[in-house]
Parts: sequence; C-alpha cells; structure tokens
Amino acid sequence: MELTTLSRKRSLLSGYEKEPPLYTKKCLKTLLDRYETDRATEHAKLKTSWGRPCTPEACVNGRSQLLTDTESFFQQVSSWADTQYSVKKVLEHLKFRQSSDDILLSESVNKKFLEFRCDITEECGAEDKQHSWAVIEKQEEVVMYGPYYPNYNNGEHSEDILIKQTQELLESETVSEEWKVYVFTMNSPCLARNTDPCMLNLVQKAKEWWSVYGVKTHIGFVKSWGFKGAKENLFRDINYSQVDCINQAEDHENYVKAAEKADLNPLCENLFSDVKYLQSPTRFSLINRVQGSDWKSYFRSMHSIFESKPEEEKKICTQEANTVIEAAQVLLSEKSGSFEEYLDKGGAFAFDYTFSSQVSDVIQDQMRLTFQQCWKEMVQDKYAEIIREKLTEDFNQCAVHVFIKDIVKFTKEYLEIGRMQFSEEAPQVV
Ligand SMILES: [Zn+2]
Repeated sequence: MELTTLSRKRSLLSGYEKEPPLYTKKCLKTLLDRYETDRATEHAKLKTSWGRPCTPEACVNGRSQLLTDTESFFQQVSSWADTQYSVKKVLEHLKFRQSSDDILLSESVNKKFLEFRCDITEECGAEDKQHSWAVIEKQEEVVMYGPYYPNYNNGEHSEDILIKQTQELLESETVSEEWKVYVFTMNSPCLARNTDPCMLNLVQKAKEWWSVYGVKTHIGFVKSWGFKGAKENLFRDINYSQVDCINQAEDHENYVKAAEKADLNPLCENLFSDVKYLQSPTRFSLINRVQGSDWKSYFRSMHSIFESKPEEEKKICTQEANTVIEAAQVLLSEKSGSFEEYLDKGGAFAFDYTFSSQVSDVIQDQMRLTFQQCWKEMVQDKYAEIIREKLTEDFNQCAVHVFIKDIVKFTKEYLEIGRMQFSEEAPQVV
C-alpha cells in the first residue's frame, strides 16, 4: 500500500495572525506539569491491567480526583473490552429503543471533517469501502495522511496503521498544545475483534496524546459499525417462525410457552424484547434480495410433484415447472409491498397461470398449490432477513451510542467522537 502524506500550508483564518505566538512559556509549563502528573498515573496504569486500583504514592500527592477519573475511565474502557458483558448491555438498551439514534459531531468539528474529506476526495478519489485517514491541524499548516485500508489477511484494520502513523508524527516534532488530531474512518472503529478493538485503542491513544502532548482528538465516521458490523450474528436464529411467535405473544413468559409448543428454541428476554419492539417494516422490496440459484432453490419441491411420472411426462412437467418459476420473477420486479400483498400476489399468480395443455389437470392443480407454498416460504424467509438486518443495524448504532455516552464523561476535555453529517441532512443544533 502506498503511504500518502499530504502536507499543505493553509491560509490562516482572519484575525488569527494577531494572536500572540502560541507556544509561550506558560503554555509549556502547563503542558509539562500535566505531562508529569499524567505520566505518573499513566505509568502506574500502563504497568497494570485496565481498571486496577491506583497506586498509594500517586494518591497522597493530592491527585485523588484525577486518579479517580483515570481509574473510572479505565474501568469503563475495560468493561467494553469484555465483549460478552458489553453486548448484553447494548441489547438491554436496544430493547427500549432509547439509545438507537446516532451521536453526531458538533457543527464546527463536522465542518472541519467535511473540508478535509473534500481535499482527500479531490486528491485520492471517492471511496465507499472501509478506509481511514487523519489530519494533524497545526497553526500554520495542515498535515493529512492516508487513506489507509484494512488488510484482512494479517488482521490489520485501517485504524491500526493510522494510530501508528499519528504516533510517529507526534513523536517526531515539537508538538504545540494548539494542534488538533482529526481521525476519519468510514465505519466507526470496531468494538470487538480477536485483538484490542480499534475504538478502545483510539480512545486510549487520545488520552495519551492529551496527557503527553496536550492535543485534542476528534473521531468522525459515516456508518455505525458496532462490534463487528454486518457480521454480527446475535440475531441469526430469528427466522420467520420466531418473529411470528414473538409478535403473537403478550410477554416473554407466554412466548416461551408458545415457542416450546411450536418446537422452537426460545430466545432470551432481551432478544425477545428487541424483536417485539422493533419497528417492523410495513412495506419492503424483494428486488435484488432473491436471485439465481437462491431463487430456484425456493421452488425445488415443485419438481417432486412429478418425480415418479413416466420419463416423457416428467420431461414435459420439468420444462413447465421451469417456465413457471422463471415467469414468477416478474413478481419481484414490482415496487415495494406489504407482507400480505406479497402473499396475495403469489397466490393470484399461481391461480391465473395458464399451463401448457400437455400437463394434466391434476398436476396443474398440484403445481399451483406447491407454487403458493414455496412462494410463501420465500416471502417469510426474506421478511425475516429484513428484520435481522434492521435489528443488526439498530444494534450497531445503539452499541456506538452507548459506548460514546459511557466514555464521554471522562474524555470530553480532549476527545470528540461522532457521526459525520452531510449537507443533505438537517444541521444539528449544538
Ligand atoms: Zn477495527
């Protein structure tokens, strides 16, 4: 991968020039003081694992407040490192749908990100796939570096490269407190992977960059990735029968009884509530959802109708079944419909279809019936798939929301994380 570092002089903002040099003695002293103070606590903390109690010598120096905050910060971060615990926490939040909206960047920071993104796009082209870039904004110039892409062969995420690069840039120069770090990542940094997740790494680095260099960090993203994005498999068992059973049950207790009766594996209460209170799509589109072999496989049982017929009749029937299945694709190319509308459409199609006269009446009737059954199963399957996707999307959004809310109370001095807003969206009132 080509490493791109763009460095450009920016014209200073009006009035900026009149300000005194920023790297004054006082600034330096504050910075050094903070560096020493934080280094002591950082040191103690880094030597132990996250969330361990503070060292007594640090407490006696009147830093108990700072230490308590640092301690709580690391406790909070380490609770997120325990994926099992944090997933459960997010599921509980999701149930009430109170934390499923995005946390947005403030208007001024968002504006910066939009400008930087414009520059990067101009230089490197637009990109929809996961990538990251960063900017160190100094008084007199803006250093942009990236874009970086993940390398899934060696498990490297784009943020890993970005963190390393930022660290090197900060280490190699005399950093001013006025510098700002902007980190862009298409998907919000991950909250789970087989090594330390990017979100936790970045938050920890932001704290370190603040402690050591006094710089603030801003993290902007476009999509909420949650723990593992679309690969989230928490909802994999939610098929149509489950959805139907949940929707019909008044509460979890009744659901469990009904599920056991229907030979379904009962879901836990959190998952039950997440599905129960989901804003199920009333209208949806099946276009592009079912194609090729997937489409054909739904109608496989139509062929078993004439399986035992003589060779010649079987040949005619096979051809006819293929024609019906092919013709039925027209049902998909129409605009969105409700679940019932889709079922009705399939029923009407089967009822109205004119079969070849070579196919016997008995086989024709069986084909109509079997088609309806296959069609119904397909619609149910796709409907459940849409529900799972919606749940995953809400869950991922909720995970990022809950994480930011958890962490912000400790990091608000030096870190801002949020989703980017584009001009077509309504501006946020800060
Ligand atoms: Zn990651």
